[in-house]
Amino acid sequence: MIENKKLESIANILYFSYHENLKIAHDVYEGYNVILIPCNKKQYKLVFGLSRDNRAPIESEMQYAIQGNSAITSCTVERNEVIYTITPNSNKADAIAMTIRDALDQIVSSLKAEGYENACSYCGTKESEISIYNITGHQTSICHECYKNNLANKVYANDKKENVLKGILGAFLGALLGGVVVVFFLSMGSISFVGGILLSLASLAGYQMLAGKLSYKGIIISSIFILLTCYIAINIDAALQFSEFKEYRDENIFSLFMRVPELLKGRNVNIDAYYENLLYVVAFSAVGIVISAIQIIKNQKDEKWSRKLS
Ligand SMILES: [Zn+2]
Repeated sequence: MIENKKLESIANILYFSYHENLKIAHDVYEGYNVILIPCNKKQYKLVFGLSRDNRAPIESEMQYAIQGNSAITSCTVERNEVIYTITPNSNKADAIAMTIRDALDQIVSSLKAEGYENACSYCGTKESEISIYNITGHQTSICHECYKNNLANKVYANDKKENVLKGILGAFLGALLGGVVVVFFLSMGSISFVGGILLSLASLAGYQMLAGKLSYKGIIISSIFILLTCYIAINIDAALQFSEFKEYRDENIFSLFMRVPELLKGRNVNIDAYYENLLYVVAFSAVGIVISAIQIIKNQKDEKWSRKLS
């Protein structure tokens, strides 16, 4: 949140347009389309689309042009897209903006001196209208033809594949962590709303982290783990309660846990309380699944669309 505010201030100082959802800033600077993307807490990328005499930029030439400015720490070229990494040595928005401004001035003046012109990052044309687009989460400066013909989309469409097997592991580990919290709350005698939400969030986040992304498939897989965890957590809690009964004192928790369904049939057990607990934990977790899924999908939505930004 603080980082977003910082980027917004930097964009304001530089007179760049700030895009709140995508957390990027962009501008047309001295005839060049420039996209400013924070790549971690300390570094920023400046993205250009360039060409010279209808040829793509040459990486060694680009490297040469940035010498002498210690804040420009690297430069990469992919087709006609040139990305400069800026590493400011301050944490403050105004100082970062100044560093970026200096770097931008140096880059642009060397580009002009070398005869590089603003061009489509994909096909390198200078003739067509070139604008900044969001292509499924990648911001790039391309021509209308490339956008219309879905050319850039093809490059980016498959780079974030979902690894379902790893996702299953993530959903399991998340559910395990959430399950411990639910059992803890149950042992304290409370069916916690927080516990249910946390269980769902941990499992869904676990899936997303290891799978690389969260699809509806992932939500269904996580939901199975979440509901199973609810059932197991309730039974662990029931086993813990049985272990306090005189007649089961000598039995270990695991064997009590395995016998919960059978023990529940015993006469001196309040079976309604068991089902009530189960119902609440499942209901709270279900709310958790819906809330976290909406949140996660909302965050991913910005990455999915492709359209013109400027
Ligand atoms: Zn193009």
